[in-house]
Amino acid sequence: MKLAMLAGTRPDIIKLAPIIKECLRRNISFKLIYSNQHYSSYLSSIFFEELSLPMPDYFIDNSLPTNKQKEELAKTLKDQEIDYFMVHGDTNTALIGAMAACKTNVKIIHVEAGLRSFDLNMIEEKNRIIIDHLSNIHFTVTSVQNKNLLNENISNKSIHAVGNTIVDAVYDFLPEARRKSSILDKLKIKDSSYYLFTSHRASNVDGRNELIETLKLVESLSETTVWPIHPRTSKRIEDYKLSIPENVIILEPIGYFDFLIVLENAKLVITDSGGVQEEAYLLKTPCMTIRNSTERPETLAGDANVLVGRDIEVLQKYQSRNVHYYPDCIGDGRTAQKIIEILFSYE
Ligand code: UDP
Repeated sequence: MKLAMLAGTRPDIIKLAPIIKECLRRNISFKLIYSNQHYSSYLSSIFFEELSLPMPDYFIDNSLPTNKQKEELAKTLKDQEIDYFMVHGDTNTALIGAMAACKTNVKIIHVEAGLRSFDLNMIEEKNRIIIDHLSNIHFTVTSVQNKNLLNENISNKSIHAVGNTIVDAVYDFLPEARRKSSILDKLKIKDSSYYLFTSHRASNVDGRNELIETLKLVESLSETTVWPIHPRTSKRIEDYKLSIPENVIILEPIGYFDFLIVLENAKLVITDSGGVQEEAYLLKTPCMTIRNSTERPETLAGDANVLVGRDIEVLQKYQSRNVHYYPDCIGDGRTAQKIIEILFSYE
């Protein structure tokens, strides 16, 4: 098997890390292709070093027109005689990768397949659907995604529910994060005395009115709130000449170890991120998702995650609540191992 993997964003790198490490552990050779979807290194490239991952073998310049990126990717896959190409998640990079690979004879593997928010206003939802329909092998999290794919007439034979690699990543990196991160001291905050906030989804930050509502929601929070701000969001705040509420400790995007520690020790996290909903569940930090839908419905069980839109009253109603966590709800920490074993059964 000649395997290549494609990463473009911080969640791709974090969630592919367990698969990369499993390949290294088993001496399986692979090529890592990196398309720098984000301009800030704290949104992606810094993670290779922090997570002790090998540097990518190939780089695709994502400022190139989409067609050019597809051509370059297809050429790399052909030159390297790749026969299995792994893409992750729902980013534009993953979509470009899948489109490039379907011009060749390469088998496309989609990790985190079958996630559906059923909200076609989200570009991510459109990407997920197209990537799934171009893919030959689908690694899903639970039977929920299996059902979504079967409903779209994707062949049962190609679908494997293996859990989410984020569980492997959190279990693997948390002990090191606890040893190395001093972020709480640096910020002079104590555990369970603050909230964590993240937001970068188009629906919350792209339009002026929506962004004003998002900021009002932050202002309404009753605790000091740590906000590692996404460049997309800070740019919009600047463009619209808005200001950040005073109850906020604003940070540039932070590294993964620091983020895990800030999340683990927060009293509550308010987010529109996909990955953060999952990590909050794993770290048992109650989560409020500032969206009306989620493609991660498993996290809603036991009220661990509550969808609040941008409704301040709903948020206030649910900010203190009893939460129940179900073990192994989105994986048991052996997802990468399962993925590799299943892949080799295809040969
Ligand atoms: N993350 C991070 N530093 C930050 C904010 C987030 O390391 O300042 C991590 C977080 O732990 C999660 C991932 O980035 O694993 C989520 O990324 P993002 O919210 O950009 O993407 P999404 O999951 O919504 O696709």
